[in-house]
Amino acid sequence: MSEGDRRIRVVALGGTIAMAAQDGRAGVAPALDADALVHAVPGLQGLARIETESFARLPGAHLTLPDLLRLAHRIKQLFDDGVEGVVVTQGTDTIEESAMALDLLLAADQPVVVTGAMRDPAQPGADGPANLRNAVLVAASDRARGMGVLVTMNDEIHAARFVRKAHASRPSAFASAGAGPVGWTAEERVRIPLRLSGRVLVELPPDAKTIAPVALVTAALGDDGRLLRTLPGHGYEGVVVAGFGVGHVAECMVEDLTALARDMPVVLASRTGSGETFTGTYGFPGSEQDLLARGLIPAGVLAAPQARVLLALAMSAGWRRTSIAAAYDALSG
Ligand code: ASP
Repeated sequence: MSEGDRRIRVVALGGTIAMAAQDGRAGVAPALDADALVHAVPGLQGLARIETESFARLPGAHLTLPDLLRLAHRIKQLFDDGVEGVVVTQGTDTIEESAMALDLLLAADQPVVVTGAMRDPAQPGADGPANLRNAVLVAASDRARGMGVLVTMNDEIHAARFVRKAHASRPSAFASAGAGPVGWTAEERVRIPLRLSGRVLVELPPDAKTIAPVALVTAALGDDGRLLRTLPGHGYEGVVVAGFGVGHVAECMVEDLTALARDMPVVLASRTGSGETFTGTYGFPGSEQDLLARGLIPAGVLAAPQARVLLALAMSAGWRRTSIAAAYDALSG
């Protein structure tokens, strides 16, 4: 079957790509459904057999892990029903987290491609139509099969584990930190010359009730980390610490982190959002070696928000510390 005959479902979640001015209210907000997005792209129907589905109409900031869990169940069902590729359109603010969650939860080989827009449809140079067209091309392409969840923005194709929103507003906002995109689109060609190693899959939880609350705390100069002490009282069951550089915190945070790590998984990421946490270079109190010896788990190449998604889903699936640590290591290649 040619790629133009593939059944591709465009599932809309909202975001800037679907935003429009609101009557009597300032600013744009999610308004357009999946049909409207598809109709705004000339020739899209010629690239595949496009089907549409409006799943949510939210800004990226309003999405939750339970929403993504429901979406993962829905996509699994679509594949079971014969859909050959899925495009998810959503707010770019949280694409790196939703791509990560879907990547962990969906075992199928069929492509799942997440995209969005940095400029709303009414702005000059709106990027939504080009991003959606590229996402459809990728979702219909054999080259995208078995690659896990991919993100297409600005003619580039990113792997879920590396992709970051690295600029607040430009159409070139998305980058694969420390790695580079796995591919690109040019004319109507999809190029994915790079493959990934170390896929990690987490059992799809049956419902959202089991999703573990995981806090994300960022180290900052001079902060004594008093927030850490309050986390168990707030019901958190896991913590990701976005440490300085390769995974460092101030000395005054060390005892609190040690106590937390006795009770729950505590993952150490880098607040730089690029590169991997170290394991054996620095030796001062609060260094990566010190913290790992106290039971923290290195996040490897995952940015702190993505490390949090993995921790929450793995805990929900009942994974213990060793399996959680192995997952971060595997995703790091
Ligand atoms: N600026 C965001 C976007 O690009 C807003 C959102 O995430 O909904 O879609």
